Amino acid sequence: MRPEILNPLFAEVEALAGVGPQVAKSLKRLGLIRVIDLLYHLPTGSIERLRVPSLTSEMIGRNVIVDLTPIDLRAPRSGRGPTRIFASDATGNTIALVYFNNPGWAKKQLPLGDKRTVSGKLEAYGDEWQIIHPDVTEPGKGPEPALREPVYPLTEGLTNRRLGELAALALERSPDLPEWIEPSLVARDGWRAWRPALGEAHREPTADEPRRRLAYDEIFANQLALLLLRQSARRKKTTPLAGDGRLTDALRLPYELTIAQQRVAGEIRGDMAQERPMLRLLQGDVGSGKTLVAMLAMLSAVESGAQAAFLAPTEILARQHHATLLGQLDSIGVRVAILTGREKGKAREAVLMGLADGSIDLLVGTHAIFQDKVAYKNLGLAVIDEQHRFGVSQRLLLSAKAGRPPHLLVMTATPIPRTLTLTQYGEMDVSAIDEMPPGRSPVATRVISDERLGEVVDGLDRHLAGGGQAFWVCPLVEESEKSDAAAAEERARVLRLRFGDDRVGLVHGRMKGPEKDAVMARFASGELGALVATTVIEVGVDVPNATLMIVEGAERFGLAQLHQLRGRVGRGAGKSICLLIRGQQLSESGRARLALMRETNDGFRIAEEDLRLRGPGEILGLRQSGEAGFRVARAEDIVELAQVAQDDAVLLLERDGGLAGPRGQAARTCLYLFERDQAVGLIRSG
Ligand code: ADP
Ligand code: MG
Repeated sequence: MRPEILNPLFAEVEALAGVGPQVAKSLKRLGLIRVIDLLYHLPTGSIERLRVPSLTSEMIGRNVIVDLTPIDLRAPRSGRGPTRIFASDATGNTIALVYFNNPGWAKKQLPLGDKRTVSGKLEAYGDEWQIIHPDVTEPGKGPEPALREPVYPLTEGLTNRRLGELAALALERSPDLPEWIEPSLVARDGWRAWRPALGEAHREPTADEPRRRLAYDEIFANQLALLLLRQSARRKKTTPLAGDGRLTDALRLPYELTIAQQRVAGEIRGDMAQERPMLRLLQGDVGSGKTLVAMLAMLSAVESGAQAAFLAPTEILARQHHATLLGQLDSIGVRVAILTGREKGKAREAVLMGLADGSIDLLVGTHAIFQDKVAYKNLGLAVIDEQHRFGVSQRLLLSAKAGRPPHLLVMTATPIPRTLTLTQYGEMDVSAIDEMPPGRSPVATRVISDERLGEVVDGLDRHLAGGGQAFWVCPLVEESEKSDAAAAEERARVLRLRFGDDRVGLVHGRMKGPEKDAVMARFASGELGALVATTVIEVGVDVPNATLMIVEGAERFGLAQLHQLRGRVGRGAGKSICLLIRGQQLSESGRARLALMRETNDGFRIAEEDLRLRGPGEILGLRQSGEAGFRVARAEDIVELAQVAQDDAVLLLERDGGLAGPRGQAARTCLYLFERDQAVGLIRSG
């Protein structure tokens, strides 16, 4: 149960004075639903205003507060266009106050001949000075705009000032909370207590220290939750699954394992032979051969009489893994099945039965495979491929659900800098496949302006004529699946005109599953030469004969995404090429990203640079992936504070494993504050 002291913070925003359904609706658009959301909706900067007796040209571009007397009103001539009210200052300068809508309101606010205090940004428009949509107050009545005002991320229906007031109300409602941070740390950095730090972060957006404390709180809650998860998983006993080598010996692989694959497979076998459940993260760049390692682990489980489940992030990948595993395992008597959202009716029933009675050894699927209705006879190993959609909270659930938790292997091709590994996988042991299978040549990457699209299509023509296959990835359009799909459809239409309908396939996220599969299958078989796609093909898709990757609008993709996309090629023996087509308008960081892609194929280097290039102020790409992300902590906070928070949390648990003492209790409050409620359930009792 959440401590009572936090209740005012978890009340809905409507609990605040003056917040009705209308304001609540606007707040909801910003994701602000409860008082605590408002508290942590911190300003990103502040406006500085000059209070001046009269205007001079030096003030152009600045925010000013000045007394003006309206002298003339000019309504728009045709009924459209802005309303302009001319006003003069104390020295006789004339300035236009411009309103694009609501002329009646403007007139009322600025009656001719009456002095008003006006504030806004002074701009020069030709010879004319103007302020667009100024704030207006009557001298002596009500406060003037502040000389400094924090600036909040806004949405329609909410002014900055209103948000500031709401934040102040939320702060008033906030209790003083007991200190959960190690006292020596608080003293070292001179951190103030939680509530004053929050107040300061709202008042002084540019001050670093209060925000850092708040970021630390969040990182600390996260590390503590992960440690509790690890402890609780480690306390549980599970069935050792050493395997007897019967199936792995029978396996006929077309190639030798790389040294790295052998080493990692050994580490996993060692873990699985224990009574303590495995918690292992397997990192390996795209194409390094993680699937095979997972398969060996699953065979150990099956040899020991247990079942294994393999979770893929997308339908396409689940089908692909299913096909691969079936191809290699059916002949040695392993019973492999698939379960996704698409298996329905009888087919689904049959799989559920097979899992319950143990006649299925190995299940591949999407998140459907860990739903409540899916009961395994004896689940011994869970493999999570391409983790980023299977976050901490899901891992918590999986571990909390099972009385005898399965051994857990999480695989990722997204190279994660070490500090981020700590905050995302702090509870896990880490293995890395740091070597590519032999015979791969690095993908040659070129950046081309979209003015040369014609040449790219000619190049594609030659590539297809020579028997090659290619991906063509279409850009993200305003982040919406719908318009992504439209862009991809249009590109496919154009390419089909040139290469024929039967040579160009199309997949995007809005297509039905079976349709997508059919297209993927035709591409994998070589029937289709080119596959036009949105980023649905980003993760894991494996078609070795495809050696050309074309990415349109490449500047709009993030580095990790580009690296993933490029990883779709360079999987066979042939030389592979990646063409990054860029638009005319390149931001500084867009340019830097493309340059880096051209320069290196090293996923870890790209990940580190990615972290750096995001720069201060940008949140880690966690939120959009649905992971319980960080609301205050920024990339640089994590880099700086994750290890400290980890050590602090370890120390606390060593001294007070049940979190029963005063600091332990405070730490519990911190876990609830950041909604790591599930972790509290894992605290050792007694
Ligand atoms: P990822 O780590 O990205 O999941 P995959 O498991 O899909 O990589 O493997 C990429 C490709 O490399 C596959 O076509 C796979 O068959 C092949 N492969 C894996 N291991 C080896 C190996 N030891 N030698 C040669 N090819 C391999
Ligand atoms: Mg893979």
